[in-house]
Amino acid sequence: MSHIIILGAGMAGYGAARKFKEAKITTDLFEKETHIGGHCASYIFDDKWIFDDGPHISFSKSQRVKDIFSKNIDNDYREFEAKVDNYWKGRWIKHPAQINLHGLPPEFNAQILQEMIEIDKRPIPKVNNYEEWLYASYGKTFSENFPMKYTRKFHTTEARNMSTDWLGPRLYRPKISEVIYGMLSEKTIDVHYIKGFRYPNKGGFVSFMNGIYDTTQIHFNHNVVSINLKDKKIKFSNNSVADYKYCFSSLPLNKIVELMQDAPCDIKSAASKLDATQCVIVNFGINRENLSPCHWRYIYDEDFYSTRLSFPHMFNPLNTPEGNGSIQIEIYFSKKYKPLDKSPEDFIPIIKDELIKLGILNINDEILFQTAWLSPYAQIIFDHDRKKNVEIIHDFLKENDIYFGGRFADWSYAWSDESFLAGEFAAEKILEKLV
Ligand SMILES: Cc1cc2nc3c(=O)[nH]c(=O)nc-3n(C[C@H](O)[C@H](O)[C@H](O)COP(=O)(O)OP(=O)(O)OC[C@H]3O[C@@H](n4cnc5c(N)ncnc54)[C@H](O)[C@@H]3O)c2cc1C
Repeated sequence: MSHIIILGAGMAGYGAARKFKEAKITTDLFEKETHIGGHCASYIFDDKWIFDDGPHISFSKSQRVKDIFSKNIDNDYREFEAKVDNYWKGRWIKHPAQINLHGLPPEFNAQILQEMIEIDKRPIPKVNNYEEWLYASYGKTFSENFPMKYTRKFHTTEARNMSTDWLGPRLYRPKISEVIYGMLSEKTIDVHYIKGFRYPNKGGFVSFMNGIYDTTQIHFNHNVVSINLKDKKIKFSNNSVADYKYCFSSLPLNKIVELMQDAPCDIKSAASKLDATQCVIVNFGINRENLSPCHWRYIYDEDFYSTRLSFPHMFNPLNTPEGNGSIQIEIYFSKKYKPLDKSPEDFIPIIKDELIKLGILNINDEILFQTAWLSPYAQIIFDHDRKKNVEIIHDFLKENDIYFGGRFADWSYAWSDESFLAGEFAAEKILEKLV
């Protein structure tokens, strides 16, 4: 066994393992599942239906990461422009809604426009939460009818409970001329922050990670059940134990603290306050492919469980048998704000009815395949205590030679490429210690 161990065979674990391999350092990687990928996993059912763990596409801006991912699949990927729209009060509106309000009631649009013109003249005030940021950016009417509704569905809480440190380019702030143009015309320009995307031609999104097998010794079925920081020992559910000098972890931050026998109370308390959403993912295989004009569709109306729909056969037709199509639906819950009250399978008939109401399925469609599962960690909830609690835990981990990185170890909004880079970054810190 090497003295450097890696926990988790997701993108962050891959980034770390690859960096050590480059430095000619051998490592052992432990993963609780029987497959690689973590959240980037892809599942193949009946040898013909491929579904990722929620819709995954690669849109990295880093040419180096793009090259690493594409080399792993011998450059065999497809590339597209993303087409996206929104369902709002019975209509489909191009994304983002703020510059595509064409066809909505004139009084409603006039109110939105008046408010946007008023705030446009004012300097941006200091805001205390996401709700205030929305009001300052889009005015009250647009905010309450669009992003604040979606926040309750996607983040499971009110915008006022959230900070703004996750926003980045995610919400487009238009010029008044763009808002007016989008009210008058359907032919608006595309401004979504995801412009082009890549998806492997074979094996689903996880194929971008194929290179992980050449970087480290992977031990599957190794579920960490306890970590002894003093003795630097990690115990697994199969009763095996690994010693380490340095450990890189991509495990969820609250989980790793829970597993530490000797973590002090203040660290345990900070970890218990971290909140993330859980996602029920429902998947259907359908006997036709013309199911949607868009790659993914956001559902704003709160009387639908469905939050986002995506169409895996539009990412790659080989994700389904020829002539068939597929739909993946995400529904969000959280322990604190919106507890899950059904099993994932219970959602299958409910979502099927919703797809009919949304006009995506018709009663003559044949469902050839269906499945549902729960992703226990999906989106970090950026509540007001997140930053402080994350800092306390991260400092403690550093003091104990546990290095970390990735979406759930950083407790951030990291995309797959950012998780990969976070793994690399943490590995570099360990390598600095070795010289
Ligand atoms: C619904 C959804 C859609 C997304 N869409 C995109 C997208 O389109 N494009 C994009 O770039 N990114 C997307 N992302 C983000 C992307 O999934 C993450 O950035 C990335 O997968 C995180 O990788 P990670 O290695 O940090 O964490 P993970 O993938 O969670 O890896 C952690 C690993 O640790 C393992 N593990 C956990 N506990 C234990 C334990 N006790 N013992 C041993 N092993 C353990 C897990 O099984 C897992 O393999 C999306 C995320 C979600 C939730």
